[in-house]
Amino acid sequence: MQTQLPQSVLATADGRRADEILRACVHCGFCNATCPTYLLTGDELDGPRGRIYLIKDMLESDSPTTVARDHLDRCLTCRACETTCPSGVAYGELAEIGRNFVEARQPRALTERFVRGWLVRVLPAPNRLAFFARLGRLFRWMLPDYLARAVPQIRRAAPPVALKNHARRVVVLDGCVQRSTTPQVNAALARVLDAAGVKAIRASGEGCCGSLELHLGQQARARATIRANVDALYTAAADAEAIISTASGCGVTVKDYGRLLADDPLYAERARWISDHACDAAEYLARIDAPIGKADSATTVAWHSPCTLQHGQRVGGVVERLLERAGYQLVPVADRHLCCGSAGTYSVLQHELGDELRRQKLASLTANRPDVIVTANVGCQLHLRDGTDIPVRHWLELLG
Ligand code: SF4
Ligand code: SF4
Repeated sequence: MQTQLPQSVLATADGRRADEILRACVHCGFCNATCPTYLLTGDELDGPRGRIYLIKDMLESDSPTTVARDHLDRCLTCRACETTCPSGVAYGELAEIGRNFVEARQPRALTERFVRGWLVRVLPAPNRLAFFARLGRLFRWMLPDYLARAVPQIRRAAPPVALKNHARRVVVLDGCVQRSTTPQVNAALARVLDAAGVKAIRASGEGCCGSLELHLGQQARARATIRANVDALYTAAADAEAIISTASGCGVTVKDYGRLLADDPLYAERARWISDHACDAAEYLARIDAPIGKADSATTVAWHSPCTLQHGQRVGGVVERLLERAGYQLVPVADRHLCCGSAGTYSVLQHELGDELRRQKLASLTANRPDVIVTANVGCQLHLRDGTDIPVRHWLELLG
């Protein structure tokens, strides 16, 4: 693709990177075939190729447009288009640049600013989230249906299990929403690691990974969050083998810390070190060939691979092999590459599209009547759980 970005844009690191990404696109449109929003709306501007053109036009004119922002808002950042693209276009990075460009120059309406500001302040803060979730459940009857269903149930952290003090250690990320809503997942991982002779430790001061702020185009806030996490993780992980995430939505961002802080003279090196040591729980358990206990072989499982695992981290087949080693029977699932509609705050901010994607995803996952649906990200788990009576769990809960 030919580009004519003005000097004012090319003078910035984001502008130069956007130019590089845009030039890699040959506008073939293959990516549209796997884009969930394009498949739903049939609108070229709701597909990756159309969004790429919108970002290009915006950067070439050096002025943001509400049309571009609306279509970027409707993008899930699932990155299925990246997996499909034969030219290796880094769409996720380009969308991030496009979003930051609009957010910095075009103020949103007051109500939108309020909702987005509230999400960014409440979701990553466990105490605030617990307060508002309890309040929300109390007054559920007053909320619109999509919000009433989205209010999470807060769970107490599982009581600490007496685990051995192994010499081999890994740092396990607590995250933010997962810490409050599904703390049993990290407890299950700690037990699996213990059986493998590895101690799971926490990083004091670790908080939200920053993905929420990145998705909402709040770049400065995200960078501050990431720097605080780098401080916490770098100290804690000094004698650890790996930094493990059990939420693929967090893992994909932590793996990207090196790129996100590459221009920060104080943090670049440590951020890269953290990215190099970050991995998903499945990658680590497969790497150390962890012993996996045998399960009830009659249990059938439908596996939903989050976009952040299959497209963002390009980790494919690993969880499936661990579950099969444990003796579970995996049922076939159609359209495995498509997003479930959770996508961070997408299920709230774009609830109509998010609800429809969940309906379609659950139709695929339940077609073969599994006993349980499993996934690898807290967002997908909570979103899918609200739409079915079949239990939706994290895959680690089946092993630990
Ligand atoms: S992003 Fe890739 S698949 Fe999509 S139009 Fe550009 S080159 Fe083709
Ligand atoms: S990230 Fe997902 S929703 Fe966004 S353009 Fe790519 S495939 Fe479509």
